[in-house]
Amino acid sequence: MAIKIEKKIKGYNVVKPEDKAAAAAAPAPQPAASKEAPKAEIIQMHESLERPETLIGSTYKIKSPLFEHALYVTINDIVLNAGTQYEQRRPFEIFINSKNMDHFQWIVALTRIISAVFRKGGDVTFLVEEMKAVFDPRGGYFKAGGIYMPSIVAEIGAVIEQHMKTIGLIHDPEMDESTRKLIAEKRAAYEAATTGKSAAPAATETKPETNANGFPPGATLCAKCNTQALVLMDGCQTCLNCGYSKCG
Ligand SMILES: [Zn+2]
Repeated sequence: MAIKIEKKIKGYNVVKPEDKAAAAAAPAPQPAASKEAPKAEIIQMHESLERPETLIGSTYKIKSPLFEHALYVTINDIVLNAGTQYEQRRPFEIFINSKNMDHFQWIVALTRIISAVFRKGGDVTFLVEEMKAVFDPRGGYFKAGGIYMPSIVAEIGAVIEQHMKTIGLIHDPEMDESTRKLIAEKRAAYEAATTGKSAAPAATETKPETNANGFPPGATLCAKCNTQALVLMDGCQTCLNCGYSKCG
């Protein structure tokens, strides 16, 4: 860069090494001052946020008896304000892949709409409840673990929920100690009552029988937590998973 000198030169100074050091030290307070200001620079999720070249994400497999082939759900996240106290990981886009082309058009529509909602910003956790409430008129199915899925859309919703929990967008409501204790007591009482009635000799019985999910055999579906853990206790339907009781 050329600098035109328009005034007469009256004197000069040569830059000494210590001057350079002073100059380097001088701008230091400036970044420190600007550190207090980044409040205005917090990046929030919004539609025009440019997609970075690389996004990190997870792929979940869904195997449903309603579908011939597995569904693969990929959710990619964007990390906003990385390295600051405002760091936040949010879902940015969703892709669903399957060999099964029967459902291609609604799956494409669903993924585009969900991705658009993700990018709109704000609270996107409502998607989970909306999707989990979708019922297939042909009937739902049981997942491994005895959890009832009312439709394939509901299971995609459950996958999104799982993902949002993993990235810390949804927090599990903490089951309080008293509820946990109450469930344990109910369970012990139920097992004592049922094993007491059984004719089998007590010596051969090390563990009470359970269904595939660890709940007593014959347990029915709880409407609150969608788990096969509802048993009849003292004439009252009681859930051994979430503590729900028909009698309050
Ligand atoms: Zn329950």
